[in-house]
Order: sequence, then C-alpha cells, then structure tokens
Amino acid sequence: MSTPEPYKCCVCGEPTTKRCQACAKNGVDLFFCSPEHQKLVWKHHKEVCGPNARHVSPPPLTVEEARKLAEVARRKRPGHFDRLPPLVSQIGRQLGVPDACGQIEIARSLEIAAKTPPGSFETVVLPQLLRPPPSLDVWTRYLLLTKARHILLAHNEVYVDKKVLDVGTYTIWAQVARLQLNSYMRNFEMAHNLAPHARLTSMICHRLLILITLVRLKQSNTTGIPLAWIKRAFERFADLLTEIKAFESEQDMHGATLWHLQRILPLTAQPYRAVRQPGTDKLVFRFID
Ligand SMILES: [Zn+2]
Ligand SMILES: [Zn+2]
Repeated sequence: MSTPEPYKCCVCGEPTTKRCQACAKNGVDLFFCSPEHQKLVWKHHKEVCGPNARHVSPPPLTVEEARKLAEVARRKRPGHFDRLPPLVSQIGRQLGVPDACGQIEIARSLEIAAKTPPGSFETVVLPQLLRPPPSLDVWTRYLLLTKARHILLAHNEVYVDKKVLDVGTYTIWAQVARLQLNSYMRNFEMAHNLAPHARLTSMICHRLLILITLVRLKQSNTTGIPLAWIKRAFERFADLLTEIKAFESEQDMHGATLWHLQRILPLTAQPYRAVRQPGTDKLVFRFID
C-alpha cells in the first residue's frame, strides 16, 4: 500500500500541515510546524516570501560583492565542461564556458550570460547587477546574479579559503548561489533554460536559504540549533535534486550530493545512504542518524 510522505517542517523536519500563507498564495508550498520556527529563519525567508516567492528575484549585489567581483573580473578561470560529451560542452559554451578545455575571463563569462559585447563588463554588466529595479529580463537577471555570486564564492574557495558556507564569507545569497547553480547542472536541459522550471528553481532557492540560515545560526554559536535540523533541511534540498533528475542508483546519488555536502561544514563527515521512498520506486537521500 502506498503512503505518501507527510509534509515536513522545513526547519526541524517534524510532520505538519501548516504552511507559510504568503508563500502559498504565490504558488510555493513551504511548511513550518510553528510560528517559532517560521520566525527563526524569517530574516532571510522574508526576502523571498509573498509576491517574491515565485519566481525568486535575488537582491542586487551589495557594494562589497561588486567590489570583490570587479577585483577578480579580469582573471581567468578554467572551463568546467572538459570531460563531458559534445552536446554538453555546446551548452557549456552557451552558458559562458566557450572552450571545453580552456580558460575564460570571469568578466567575459558574465558578458556572455548578459548577452553584451566583449569589454562591457565594467560599463554595462556590473551596473546592471547593482541597480535595484530589474533592467534585464527576469531570467537573465536571475542567472546573472546567481552566476556572479557563484563565481565569487568559487574564487574564494579555490584561491583563498576552502571553508565555504562560513559566517562572514560574503553574503548568504552568495552562499545560496554557490549550491544553487551546481544543482541546476544535474540536468543540462534545465541548466540551459531555467524559465520553464520556475516552481522548482524557486523551491531550490527557498530550501537553500533555510538550510544556510540554519548553518549560519549554528556557526554563530548564539542559538542551540541541533545538527539534526540541518540534516533534515539538507534532505529536503536533496529531495529537490531528485526532482531535477531522479537518482538512478546509489552511485548517482553519491555523485549528485557529495559536492554539496563537502561545502556544508557541519555535514561533511555525516554518514548517509540512499533509501527507497515509501510507496514509490524513488531513491532519496537520507542521513544515517
Ligand atoms: Zn519545526
Ligand atoms: Zn513565506
């Protein structure tokens, strides 16, 4: 007999039927067991609550983010699609990685994403990322902001300090972007065109904001956030990875989740396994408690 999994609080993982009303009115179901747990993550959830729930519009770069981005913009970074089939590297080029095995300037990869000519990063792209009202179409702006922030943390990770998702490492939006962009890569068709996946991209963004809010609260040592809550929040995020593309095997699940786990400090050494979801054939990610 098939019994669907009950809805779970996105903070503590307890079964609940209560959802954020403002988000529900805008087509995003986000469950909270109590006003207390909703309040706990409100500082960041409010940025994507209500009319901004779907689709999510990330805030513009902060002045500090823009300064750091300008600082690294003319450096080269490696192409990411070097071990992949030709179709994939073709999509990679469209995403801003023109040479499958080569290097690309950070500024140029953002110009390609913004569909602006070479040399326009400082004069056109960066101002667009700083201006609050959208001056680009929503998806271009969304991808550009996500990509810019992803690059900032990727750069930080490679050249400065391996400890990402650390309190004070740029903004929480940079931390979300770092995990977000990588999760889209699980399905290259989706990564190529996010527009038809507004619900899924919104859910990924909501759940990552909550996961990383909890990680930051735990790292700030001012609140007693149990590790179990962070595990549950990661499981809720990993469930969305299966919506992008179902886990085909335990190996596949390992490949899809390990990259993310390695970037979330309290979770790096926690054992996990693939579990068959009750009533379905679907493999899901669950920690071994
Ligand atoms: Zn709760
Ligand atoms: Zn909400």
